[in-house]
Amino acid sequence: MIPVSEPDIGEKEIEYVDDAVRSGWVSSHGKYIDEFEKKFSEFIGTKYGLTVSNGTTALHLALSALGIKEGDEVIVPDLTFISPVNAVLYCNARPVLCDINSNNWCIDPENIERLITDKTKAIIVVHLYGNSADMDKIMEIADKHNLYVIEDTAESLGTTYKGKKLGSIGTIGCFSFYGNKTMTTGEGGFCTTNDKELYEKMLVLRDHGMTSKKRYWHEFIGYNYRMTNLQAALGVAQLERINYFIDKKHEIGKIYRERLKDMVTLHPEGADYNGTYWLYSILIDNEKKCDNLMDFLYRNGIDTRRFFYPVHTMPPYEKYSNDNYPVSTDIAKRGINLPSSVKLKEEEVNYVCDKIIEFLENKV
Ligand SMILES: *Cc1c(COP(=O)(O)O)cnc(C)c1O
Repeated sequence: MIPVSEPDIGEKEIEYVDDAVRSGWVSSHGKYIDEFEKKFSEFIGTKYGLTVSNGTTALHLALSALGIKEGDEVIVPDLTFISPVNAVLYCNARPVLCDINSNNWCIDPENIERLITDKTKAIIVVHLYGNSADMDKIMEIADKHNLYVIEDTAESLGTTYKGKKLGSIGTIGCFSFYGNKTMTTGEGGFCTTNDKELYEKMLVLRDHGMTSKKRYWHEFIGYNYRMTNLQAALGVAQLERINYFIDKKHEIGKIYRERLKDMVTLHPEGADYNGTYWLYSILIDNEKKCDNLMDFLYRNGIDTRRFFYPVHTMPPYEKYSNDNYPVSTDIAKRGINLPSSVKLKEEEVNYVCDKIIEFLENKV
């Protein structure tokens, strides 16, 4: 089976993890944590950054440090992996679902302003499938209304918007290093920021709310959202190869683009951003054909994923539907994520294209 995404673990990863285990620093202190925090923040281009246990805790920690609480509203896109919506709910705040736009499949700034009330505190931007949201417009709206911007960059590690890495533009950037992401630490996450005060607040909340000056003295109700040194060792090794991973994603995207143009709606390309195709994705005419194509590919040894379901359609979240969602509703039905692992061989990507073309040309 050709997978949608699988990690590329090399000898360096094994060597560093082995070193971390042997050092005895197996919990959340150790040289790899320090090194990974420094190097990952440098890579993204922010002054500060801290490791956390996963991408969802990164989002919850960010919202907590910003003081998001009951009675507050946070605007989130209707087409997303569910984490950012849940993170808002963990704070007892209200997620306000916003439609996306068809240019980049991310939250549409045209819809954001209509949803702002005097309770709105923040916007969570989700950069979907390696794309970038329209950051200039979003930052302008946020400045005008005095809102925080959290960039959920779990799917767009390495994507640049007007030359800047995503995760360095908003108030806080959040990342995930789950096994299917562009780089992995097994489970893991990261928060980036240029704000020293927020950084320090996140450090305290990550570690049970304990003040750094006085052990066992808790000034806040915090969490244990720490990453281990073992995971960070994996992260340091993966980060050494991040540019190779990104180049590979571009090569894979190029093959799909060239071979499938004229056949399907291709993965969006941005004029303002250079995307990284976390999962190269296409849109098919309609839902039925989309399901049939996925079945056909599966029978030919090719795994694919359908897009996320629009958040407003799922039982726990229906009550947060307070707008219309024509674009997310349409795109969610017709979207397919294609195999996009950095380990894919050129022949495999071409085989996937052959099978898609065979299906669409009705030869089956
Ligand atoms: C993967 C992902 C997350 C969550 O990451 P975990 O590490 O699995 O908690 C959050 N947001 C988006 C958009 C994701 O794709």
